[in-house]
Amino acid sequence: MRPLPALARTLAAAARGFASSARGFADLAWPPRCLACGRDLREEEGPHLCDPCAEGVPRIQPPTCAWCGSPLGAFLPVRAPCDGCPSERPAYRLARAAARYAGPVRALVLAAKYAREPAACEPLGRLLAEALALPPAPALDALVPVPLHRWTRLRRGYDQAERVAEAAGGALGVPVAHGSLVRVRRTAPQAGLEAGERLRNVAGAFRVRRKSAVAGLRLLLVDDVLTTGATASACAEALLAAGAAWVGVGATARAVLRVRGTARTEESEDMADEPATP
Ligand SMILES: [Zn+2]
Ligand SMILES: [Zn+2]
Repeated sequence: MRPLPALARTLAAAARGFASSARGFADLAWPPRCLACGRDLREEEGPHLCDPCAEGVPRIQPPTCAWCGSPLGAFLPVRAPCDGCPSERPAYRLARAAARYAGPVRALVLAAKYAREPAACEPLGRLLAEALALPPAPALDALVPVPLHRWTRLRRGYDQAERVAEAAGGALGVPVAHGSLVRVRRTAPQAGLEAGERLRNVAGAFRVRRKSAVAGLRLLLVDDVLTTGATASACAEALLAAGAAWVGVGATARAVLRVRGTARTEESEDMADEPATP
């Protein structure tokens, strides 16, 4: 017996609709792509990076410079400042970065900051936690995300440093001091400014909102990319003035300041495509 043509068409259309909405739902419910390169993840990979990207993370191994977090090379003694350091000592006591700003890490940072992909903060936070656990691991009471201005946060819908801090803090068992530090004025984008201009740009831009949340504590500022450290230093000044006992900075990536017209390192080339935002 042949089915009624109208009924068959209705059933076929319903089946097509179901299949396409199921596919759409699957994309939403289980992003099956690598957050760094976009390739489909195999079942045994992930949850965030494909195997080649996970293996290609340009991790920074100790010894590193305590002022700027740059790798010093296996045979150099631990010392600071290093050749690439800013001329003035930053207000924080230790800078540690998980990786160079290159390859899959650069892709994750760009996804977190500019492609509205907050899921990219999770692998970045875990990477930072691994770097902070390397000896000598600093003793920490709380993590303090370098805050965005509230308008920038509103536009982006989330604060990537806060998400990175949450992921790192979760892995380390260290709490995040939410909202203790705020950005009280909007600043011009740091990208494209030279070291001295960067310092002036962020001077006085941060304020501690609740002194009781930071006084007497050992704190680690968390940021995505550390370049000259000017922003972190301005944050550290505010925290120390509010009574913090010790302030360090932990970043997912270490970049080198791009000097106009010259490419000092491979990282400085990478910074060329960094969109300008505060
Ligand atoms: Zn990948
Ligand atoms: Zn250095």
